This record gives sequence, structure tokens and C-alpha cells, in this order.
Amino acid sequence: MERISWDQYFMAQSHLLALRSTCERLMVGATIVRDKRIIAGGYNGSVSGGVHCIDEGCYVIDGHCIRTIHAEMNALLQCAKFGVATDQAELYVTHFPCIQCCKAIIQSGIQTVYYATDYKNHPYAIELFENAGIKAEKVVLEETSLDLQLNHFNRQ
Ligand SMILES: [Zn+2]
Ligand SMILES: [Zn+2]
Repeated sequence: MERISWDQYFMAQSHLLALRSTCERLMVGATIVRDKRIIAGGYNGSVSGGVHCIDEGCYVIDGHCIRTIHAEMNALLQCAKFGVATDQAELYVTHFPCIQCCKAIIQSGIQTVYYATDYKNHPYAIELFENAGIKAEKVVLEETSLDLQLNHFNRQ
């Protein structure tokens, strides 16, 4: 029996969250993990109770949708809302974070960022991560990890 790895499990969770995105520009999911436990998750979407981009169209200014709170930020703010510490935590995110999210990730004490897809990886974000001693590592979700038919249990 092949057991799904922790990395694949948490990245799969982020990909599932991405499917909840309400902004049409990019479907992103983020999962915050501490001691191999999921403490928060987020996806690209509007503020709670707000209209959704998928219904009203994006609110684009200077090439960015200003209605959307990024997945990473939503996950961090969920921790703030419920008083969950993010120091020394790990983040699994479907796309390499934007510069604003990178700064928030650093300030929240997250130590490791696992991302599935390169996305406009900003050199300044990479530099900030390096200076803060944050490890950014690519973890691609393998298709077999989401084999929900559980066929892998039959493999010898
Ligand atoms: Zn939008
Ligand atoms: Zn962002």
C-alpha cells in the first residue's frame, strides 16, 4: 500500500480550496499547517458577505482585481480571527505568492512555503524570503495523490 505523503496531502487540500475561489482571474488555495495539522485554509475571494466576481465580474484597477482577498491572506486572517498562532508554521499554496502576501507570510512567522506552480515569482519576493530565512520549495501535486478511487490501495 502506498500512503499519501504529508506534502501531497496538504497540497491536495490547497488544490481543493482553490476550487472554492470566487475570483475569475486566478483560482488559488492556501493551507496553513503546524506540526502536521491543518490550522487554517483560504481561497481567492471577496470579503465575507460581499458580492462575488463570478457573479458581478472582477473589479479591476491597474490590472488587479481589488475585490479579492488572496488565498494566503484569507488563511492568515482566519488565524487572526480565531486567535491561532502562525509562528513557525508552514504554508501550502497552489501558486507562488504575490509580493503583498509574501510580506504578510514573513510577518506572520511562517517558516516554509510550499507552492505547486510558479506564478510571476517576483525577484524581490524571493529576496525577502531569503533574507527572512524562509524556505520556498516547489511541491507539485501528483495526479495519483488524488486518485479517489483508492486504486493505489490495490497496488502491491
Ligand atoms: Zn475578481
Ligand atoms: Zn497575494
